[in-house]
Amino acid sequence: MRINCVSCGHKVDLDEAYDNYEGEVKCFACSAILEIKAVEANLRSVTLVRTAARRSSENSGK
Ligand SMILES: [Zn+2]
Repeated sequence: MRINCVSCGHKVDLDEAYDNYEGEVKCFACSAILEIKAVEANLRSVTLVRTAARRSSENSGK
C-alpha cells in the first residue's frame, strides 16, 4: 500500500503489515508523523499529526 505524505507529498511505501492498520507512521522523506487508517489495504484517512521540521520561526505568539 502506498500513501502520499500530506506534508511533503512523498509517496510512502507501506508493507502488508499496514493493510489493516490504524495509527502513526513516519514519512521517511520529511520525517513528518502521519496518522493513517487503513482497512483491507484501502486507505480511509491520512492525517498529519505533526511535521518534523523544527523551525524556530514558529515561536510566534505567547
Ligand atoms: Zn513527508
